[in-house]
Amino acid sequence: MSKKNLKIKSAFVLLKVLDFFRHLQAFFLGGENCLCCGRPGGIIPVCKNCLKNLCVKSEALRCSVCGKELVSEMELCSSCRNERVLFSVDSAFPLFSYRLWKKGLLFAWKTEEKRVLSPVFASFVFNKIAEISPSPENLLPVVPVPPRPGKIRRKGWDQIEELCHFLHSLYGIELYPVLQRLTRFQQKKLNRSHRLEQLKNSFILKPCKKIRKFLEAPPKTVVLVDDVMTTGTTIEACAAELKRAGVEKVIAVTLFVVD
Ligand SMILES: [Zn+2]
Ligand SMILES: [Zn+2]
Repeated sequence: MSKKNLKIKSAFVLLKVLDFFRHLQAFFLGGENCLCCGRPGGIIPVCKNCLKNLCVKSEALRCSVCGKELVSEMELCSSCRNERVLFSVDSAFPLFSYRLWKKGLLFAWKTEEKRVLSPVFASFVFNKIAEISPSPENLLPVVPVPPRPGKIRRKGWDQIEELCHFLHSLYGIELYPVLQRLTRFQQKKLNRSHRLEQLKNSFILKPCKKIRKFLEAPPKTVVLVDDVMTTGTTIEACAAELKRAGVEKVIAVTLFVVD
């Protein structure tokens, strides 16, 4: 077994051991209830059954640009037809609809900081990456969408960084954390057009000396990973910057889509 495979294997074993203790704790002290059906869900707030039904229906028609579900047999959704946002993103694959109880799932992860969900979400993202990669030996590398400046210092962690960490340690996916976010503005406090303008200018590459290896030989195709796609402006701004650096194709995978 190669050194890389051994490292991946031991990360998996460690996670399983941790999960075992969490299950033990949940058994004695009571675990989480499923956000969807209310049944006891163990260590994460979703039961096994509902977890299986989490993914957006793959047979549903999807917009060829943003990946949102289509209501009629058109190639593009109404927002991509009317005010298209995605140009630098070559294709987008949102995994779950941000609807009903699924909103609670994102809240539990991001706001209530149930970090036990991170490896679970990572497994979904990995499955998608495996599906769109050229071969299992040749998995596409990942660029995480970076958090607001100072977030990690304030909160101690960032959900996307953690998810990507699991993509690397559990599945051996190569990471390029080459982007940084500039603005400190809270998106909620700005109106839509301000917010879009603000977002467009808020993602840039890290200073040259920190990402020299990436700049010298940028990967041809990368997968951009984020938690929610709302307007698509965030992933578009990131993709545009990556293309300026020489990346040829940017595929976005987001956990949730507001559709
Ligand atoms: Zn359930
Ligand atoms: Zn669309």
